[in-house]
Amino acid sequence: MPFIDLRSDTVTKPTSAMRRAMAEAEVGDDVYIEDPTVEKLQRRAAEIFGREAALFVPTGSMGNLISVKLHTQPGQEVIIDARGHILNYELSSISLVAGVMPRSIPTENGLLTWKDIESAIRPPIYYCAQTSLICLENTHNMAGGAVMPKEQMYEICEKARERNIRVHLDGARIFNAAVALGESVAELTKPFDSVMFCLSKGLGAPIGSMIVGTKEFIERARPLRKTLGGGMRQVGVLAAAGLIALEEMPARLAEDHDNAKLMAQQLAEMPGISIVGRVQSNIIIFDISKTGLNTKDFSEKLKSHGVLANGISPTEMRMLTHFDVSRSDCENAMEIVREIVTKR
Ligand SMILES: *Cc1c(COP(=O)(O)O)cnc(C)c1O
Repeated sequence: MPFIDLRSDTVTKPTSAMRRAMAEAEVGDDVYIEDPTVEKLQRRAAEIFGREAALFVPTGSMGNLISVKLHTQPGQEVIIDARGHILNYELSSISLVAGVMPRSIPTENGLLTWKDIESAIRPPIYYCAQTSLICLENTHNMAGGAVMPKEQMYEICEKARERNIRVHLDGARIFNAAVALGESVAELTKPFDSVMFCLSKGLGAPIGSMIVGTKEFIERARPLRKTLGGGMRQVGVLAAAGLIALEEMPARLAEDHDNAKLMAQQLAEMPGISIVGRVQSNIIIFDISKTGLNTKDFSEKLKSHGVLANGISPTEMRMLTHFDVSRSDCENAMEIVREIVTKR
């Protein structure tokens, strides 16, 4: 029996349609800007987001780093919430490579408000580093897939513009946010200066992320991608899978959200377990401290019953739903969790 893998939505394997498209992809040297499949993916991403241009990058981390560097000068400050992916899971790349100082703000639910941000903007005094960028994350990974409403994003972008501050969206899972909010990604992300989104998460591509923005922004992003070692050659084999991810996979994300809600409902009724926050997309974070188990032991017990999930702290577990776990996998996983917690 294969494992029911709830560790992340990055674990999805390319579908057979993706594998076929990869095998048959028309390719060229993308450093020479001659790969037709990459060109097509970039054109479609720009169209879907209603933007001038897009660039394929190997990872979301690189897409975020390129964006941060292009919006800032070394020595400036970047506002980000304290649980943000850019701050916690991309090493210190924005400091190392872009030379900026993150100013992190703790939030209740991962979702910054303009009020949080305003008080963190440095005053225009010569001995203070200047705030040049705000990074938002939607959906918010470590806040249990929390969804930032459109109005909140728009307000931040609008007010930031008045202060001459740029706003970048870490939209690794922006398609999940779009499904949860019933809006298009173009509408949701309209006021941002740049957006990064992942093809490799819930959309199921084996590799790849995109950055979208103005033509000028993408023209500056391309040489920076090369500087970082991200100039790729016949990468149309990956873009072919990315195109299927982009065109066909968003429509099924609602299924992942339904599965996550079902699991959250069942977990909430189990002894010793409480859901952290509100499950709005495909991520569930839950506290197990009252079960008397720590997350390391809990994960090991799950694994011995064929379920994979990781702790994000000694007391909190995280589970994600995705294309490679079905409704019945989710139900089976819940049976196993129930058995573990009620046996105690
Ligand atoms: C996965 C993820 C990224 C990018 O991760 P890579 O592994 O570098 O592709 C960025 N932001 C968030 C919120 C993510 O979940």
